[in-house]
Amino acid sequence: MQTRITKMLGIEHPVVQGGMQWVGLAELASAVSNAGGLGILTGLTQPTPEDLLQEIERCRDMTDKPFAVNLTILPTIKPVPYELYAQAIVDSGIKIVETAGHNPEPYLPMFKAAGITVIHKCTSIRHCLKAERIGCDMVSVDGFECAGHPGEDDITNMILLPLAARKLKIPFLASGGLADGRALAAVLAMGADGINMGTRFMATKEAPIHENVKQAMVEASERDTSLIYRTLKNTARVFKNSVAEQVLEIESRDGATNFEDIAPLVQGTRGREVFNSGDLEHGIWSAGMVIGLIDDIPSCADLIAGIVSEAEEIISQRLTQMLSA
Ligand code: NAD
Repeated sequence: MQTRITKMLGIEHPVVQGGMQWVGLAELASAVSNAGGLGILTGLTQPTPEDLLQEIERCRDMTDKPFAVNLTILPTIKPVPYELYAQAIVDSGIKIVETAGHNPEPYLPMFKAAGITVIHKCTSIRHCLKAERIGCDMVSVDGFECAGHPGEDDITNMILLPLAARKLKIPFLASGGLADGRALAAVLAMGADGINMGTRFMATKEAPIHENVKQAMVEASERDTSLIYRTLKNTARVFKNSVAEQVLEIESRDGATNFEDIAPLVQGTRGREVFNSGDLEHGIWSAGMVIGLIDDIPSCADLIAGIVSEAEEIISQRLTQMLSA
């Protein structure tokens, strides 16, 4: 299955692994790339730009296929030296970057000068058009179903993807709510050139997180996510647990929410501990509605091969038969 995106990224299958805080380590990124998709290391999971350089080298030791680095630009508890992370990416010789969150424009000149292909993740059509205008090579269109930060418009992929197809000249990936070959065939029909999956890749053998987290996703339904930080206009979709409930209780109180009141509950280091220890109630951890579609923990290679072959079968059998009847 060849699309504009497989050609531009030099990958075999139109399947990209989304940037995920604490999960996008070399183990997962290399497994996805070795399976013919595009693996992504999460830049800010590394405590310093120097650590990111080392993680890139570690990933190179694990795959000779292309992989990318994610740079997420969103509010953080501790200030992030974004410029230095961007410089580390350039210095490393990485050729594909996924930016997410706020406008990546300040970093585009250095990425472009280094010949880097930039994928910007967008949750609205106006942001997609802006990304195209400022020179991003492709966008990842992230519907309201997604894990993490869906933006504040609450528009699902059924609307976003056809709109993107009508309005964009650059190719786009579909992101959010995607787990199987049905989804791949559907979004290709809607104009996308591939899929970006985060949560689905968390429930794989190679994801470097505790088995309890993977099992919780297998057992969960599509109703088991919560939207927190709505009152702060920094909405995040996370797994519904007691910590998310506490945050929502604080946010429901009269008057404006003060981030300081919830910061001790939501700090990323507590979320990292969930992934390390398997204590699902230790902190906040991102998960998309797609957990309702996850019922196994395959290897990345089996997952990607299964998705691609299911999509090919739908396109060549079910859909084709509808025309020849
Ligand atoms: P962190 O420990 O700095 O912050 C924890 C959470 O609080 C994050 O979601 C952050 O956006 C939010 N936050 C921090 N300061 C805030 C403020 N003043 N107002 C409102 N919200 C605030 O973050 P981390 O867990 O170490 O993650 C690092 C970065 O990666 C953050 O920017 C985070 O948003 C981002 N992230 C993105 C996703 C995603 O879905 N794309 C998932 C996890 C984390």
